[in-house]
Amino acid sequence: MSPIPSSPALFRRPTLPSRTVSPIQELLDPLDEIARWSPNLIRKPGGTIDDENGSLTLPRYLFLGPQGGGETLRIGLFAAIHGDEPAGAHALVKLIQELDRSPDLAAGYCLFVYPVCNPGGFEDGTRHSRRGKDLNREFWVDSREPEVRLLQSELWAHAFHGIISLHSDDTSDGLYGFVSGATLTELLIEPALKAASQILPRNASALIDGFSASDGIIREGYQGILRAPPQKGPHPFEIILETPSKAPQLLQERAFVAALQTILSEYRKVISYAADL
Ligand SMILES: [Zn+2]
Repeated sequence: MSPIPSSPALFRRPTLPSRTVSPIQELLDPLDEIARWSPNLIRKPGGTIDDENGSLTLPRYLFLGPQGGGETLRIGLFAAIHGDEPAGAHALVKLIQELDRSPDLAAGYCLFVYPVCNPGGFEDGTRHSRRGKDLNREFWVDSREPEVRLLQSELWAHAFHGIISLHSDDTSDGLYGFVSGATLTELLIEPALKAASQILPRNASALIDGFSASDGIIREGYQGILRAPPQKGPHPFEIILETPSKAPQLLQERAFVAALQTILSEYRKVISYAADL
């Protein structure tokens, strides 16, 4: 009688199939979880981007704060249009988590949140889109890039009161911001940078990214950046916040969240002051 052949395979631990989670889904999991039960947060994917690698969705969430006094203020928050700048995307997730705990911080607002404006680039960790474009040079120039067309229709349809874009710069040692649009933008950027500079230093150079700057504020900008439709008035406030990308990412995220919360509270003050005049 021959012995039963031993089968080492029987004693091998079965390998569990590893759950493959895309970087985008990993980022958004906490928001999807909140959206499942929160009365304030709605998950509303904003259209699909098709290419030879398949189809990606433009993530979009709406956060509705408690009612304020007057017209609901519509603010668009945009991150990761450069796919290799993840701090802004993570900061928007943190902001929503914070607002969900304390919705009064968003009283009077409807926030339109686009945490990943360049989904292919975010998945691949590249600045450019999968079609090889710097999407932040393609706005309002009849671009054929699907991400840009989707975002332009959002900017057109929602006629935001304010537009805030988050970026990270590997050539800067400190925080800074670009301002344009409504003149009251100036009233928002200074307190925002002040709040954020509790966490990371401000870039004090007279020249930043090739533009003249004072106290970390630049009043010019590149052509083709994500902004309000050119002919449509009245102009919203437009702010681009930049963190130094070589700083620890957690600090960049905290600096963004501090700046964004400050802008929300300052803008509400400006609007209610104007309404009382
Ligand atoms: Zn950027």
